[in-house]
Formats: sequence, structure tokens, C-alpha cells
Amino acid sequence: MIVVIGGGPAGFFAAITAREAQPDIPVLLLEKHQNVLRKVLVSGGGRCNVTHNCHDPRELIKQYPRGGRELNGAFHRFGPGDTMSWFEDQGVPLKAEPDGRIFPTSDSSTNIVEALQTAAYNLGVQVRTRCGVKSLNFDPLTHEFHLELDDGSALSCAKVMIATGGQTSGGLHGGFALAAGLGHTIENPVPSLFTFKSQDPLLYGLAGLAAPKVTIKAKGQDLPTKGLVETGPVLVTHWGLSGPAILRLSAWGARALAEAEYRFNLNVNWCPDVSRVDLDNQLINWAESNGRKQISHGPELGIPRRLWEAILDKVHIPKDRKWAELGKKSRNALLEALTASNLSVYGKTANKEEFVTCGGVRLKEVDFKTMESRVQPGLFFAGEVLDIDGITGGFNFQGCWTTGYLAGMGMVQK
Ligand SMILES: Cc1cc2nc3c(=O)[nH]c(=O)nc-3n(C[C@H](O)[C@H](O)[C@H](O)COP(=O)(O)OP(=O)(O)OC[C@H]3O[C@@H](n4cnc5c(N)ncnc54)[C@H](O)[C@@H]3O)c2cc1C
Repeated sequence: MIVVIGGGPAGFFAAITAREAQPDIPVLLLEKHQNVLRKVLVSGGGRCNVTHNCHDPRELIKQYPRGGRELNGAFHRFGPGDTMSWFEDQGVPLKAEPDGRIFPTSDSSTNIVEALQTAAYNLGVQVRTRCGVKSLNFDPLTHEFHLELDDGSALSCAKVMIATGGQTSGGLHGGFALAAGLGHTIENPVPSLFTFKSQDPLLYGLAGLAAPKVTIKAKGQDLPTKGLVETGPVLVTHWGLSGPAILRLSAWGARALAEAEYRFNLNVNWCPDVSRVDLDNQLINWAESNGRKQISHGPELGIPRRLWEAILDKVHIPKDRKWAELGKKSRNALLEALTASNLSVYGKTANKEEFVTCGGVRLKEVDFKTMESRVQPGLFFAGEVLDIDGITGGFNFQGCWTTGYLAGMGMVQK
């Protein structure tokens, strides 16, 4: 018998794959909560961003701050195209949004949950809920795994898979403790995909403002000097900053930002498409040809008007001052604020409650052809319990479908 611990997308997909490939081997899936697939149900704001319309593994792996290298071969074996075919074969039509995210055409995650549950049921996967696994041991004499369940009962099996997801609350517990107990190393788990808290005066009154293209750089004495840079849309919120560029920076910098306790400076270039010299020339030319106009009426720099006014406030230039009266000192201050505003960040908040875990079972200790442990034969892993995480866009679920598929095949191969 194969036991799968964890009724999330990775556990379900592995159990389904194993039964599909080898219907003679019983598969038991244990879930500690009353309901399975809870995250799938709430995912993508209830729509479930099931994967991403990217079919080149070399491109796909660039979306994984951790695990990309290891997933390269895995995506050749089971990629987004395979995921899409699988769900469509289950009667769930999918659609691609212009940015590449794939959703069920119904825009309802319920269809994804039902497809997984129906497939598992039809293939004879036994699903037991309210059945948490408290401990997991291997007996070298019988070559069996022994599981102790939360209700005190026990069971044994020849192969076991840990698909218990991520967790970032202090200490090693849950699936991480089960894996560590069998000799695995756990990369310290910290959150990824979060937004930044900032009360910088520049942001006062700007909540709701979207800057379409901004370059942001995280700086601080505890942070690496290179690498923590992103360019893209940024959204000002009531608590600080959000938007795609912020989420990407939070993912790529997850570990470094955690070590800095989420206190750092965010250097913002609001006009990343123009060099500083060209921007200075634009300001000079604009001042010369619009000398009698007020400074609140600025050149077209591609930034929202409210932001322009906030930047003028930041550098103490009265909005009713005329362009002809803008001295070199003020122009330099304006230039500095446009290209290198320093905003202080003092914490993080969840992105619409959607977050993933950076950290987990060390990848070197897992064979990515089968997802079998290199430390304890017969033990398999899939999903977020591994030190794998992607940016937003359906990449996290794709990681689960891919590793779940490989683990499902791996468990029935030998
Ligand atoms: C609000 C939200 C929205 C999201 N939206 C998206 C999205 O649209 N697209 C995307 O790609 N990603 C999204 N994600 C990320 C995605 O949900 C996760 O990456 C994914 O669910 C991980 O799957 P998993 O199977 O590894 O773990 P999980 O989904 O966490 O499932 C693990 C299961 O194991 C169970 N378990 C844990 N310990 C035990 C134990 N000891 N015994 C028995 N059972 C146990 C848990 O109860 C849980 O049901 C979202 C995440 C959140 C929080």
C-alpha cells in the first residue's frame, strides 16, 4: 500500500497518477482537516489560477526563485500543456488570460476541486479526512513505514509520500518535522509573496495609485548589494506598496528580506525608461518652453499626476511656482526624487492572503526523476513541502502538478 500524507493539490495529483498508472496498488490519502483541497478552493480569488500558458521549460523555470534548476527536467516530463490536457480531459475547459494565467472557463475553483475529487474517487483512491499524521518512522527490519495518526491509531505501508504543503510559523512541525525525523534537512521556512509596509511621507494620500512601470531596489546594510531589483507595475496601498514588481521582489528576496527582519530602504526610480541625464534635459527644455506655467503642470513623464504633485511636495517645491523660477538646486532635488526616491519599509503584509513558503525539504536530497528521497528509500515528496516556490501566475500549482505526477509515477515504478 502507498500512503499519501496531505490532501492538497500535490497529494491528490500524486495519488491519482499512481492509481492511473498501477490500479493494483491501493493508495490511501490522509488529510488532517475536515476538507481536502482547501487552498485550491480559495486560490486565485476563488477562480483558481491553475497553471501558466508557458510551454518552454527554460522560460518556465525563470519563474521559480527556488527550485527552478531542479524543475527543468521535471517540466519536460510533465509541463503546463500536460496539466491543461488533464483538466480538459476531466471535462474542465480552461482559458488563458492575456498575461498568460490559466483559469477554468467557468472562473470557479470548484470545478478544479471537483475534477480532482471525482478522478480520485473513480480511480479508487481512499481518502480519509480528519486524519492527521503525528509521527512517521521507518523500520529497517521489516522495510516498512509506521505512521501514528492524531487519533492514536497506527498503520504501516511500503511507500509513503509527504505532501503536507508549506508553513512558516516558527519551529519545525507538521510535514517538515516528519521529513526531518527521517533524516532530511529543512531549509529554514520563511514567507514569500508579500507586500511591503511603508509609511513614507511620499505615499501619504496616494493609496490606490498605480504606477505602470517603476524600478525598485531593496537596500540595507544586511542585504546583498546585488540582485534585489525589479521593474514593473507598483500599486500604492493604504499600508504601503503592492503590485507585481513588489511581489516579485518579495519572492526573489524572501530569504534576505526575512534576515533583514523586513526593515530596509526601497530605492524607487519612477521613470526607469529615461536616463538621468536625458530626464534632466527634459526638465530643462520643459522649463525653457513653459516658463510661465505652474510647476504642477509637468512634462509627460508617464507618471500619474497625483504622484508628480506628491514628489513636488517631497522636495518642497510649491505647486504654484512657475517653471521659470525653478533653480538648479530644486531641479536636482526633483531629479533625485524622480529617479531615486528612498522609501523606508518597516514590515510585510499578506497579498490577499495568498502566500507561499520559501524553504522546505532540501532539494539535493530528492531525486527529481521520481521525487524519491535520496536519504530514505521508499519516501517521496511533492508540492510546497519542498524548497520550491514560484512567483504569482499559476506557477505554484504547476510545481504541485509536476512533482505530484512524478511522485505518483515514481511510487509505482519499482
Ligand atoms: C489564498 C491563496 C491563494 C493561492 N492562489 C494560487 C493560485 O491561484 N495559483 C497558484 O499557482 N498558487 C496559488 N497559491 C499557492 C498554492 O495554493 C500552494 O502553492 C499549493 O496549495 C501547495 O500545494 P500542496 O499540495 O503542496 O500543499 P497544500 O495545498 O498546503 O496542502 C497540504 C495539505 O496537507 C495537509 N496536512 C498538513 N500536515 C498534515 C499531516 N501531518 N497529516 C495529514 N495532513 C496534513 C494540510 O491540511 C493540507 O490540506 C495560493 C495560496 C494561497 C494561500
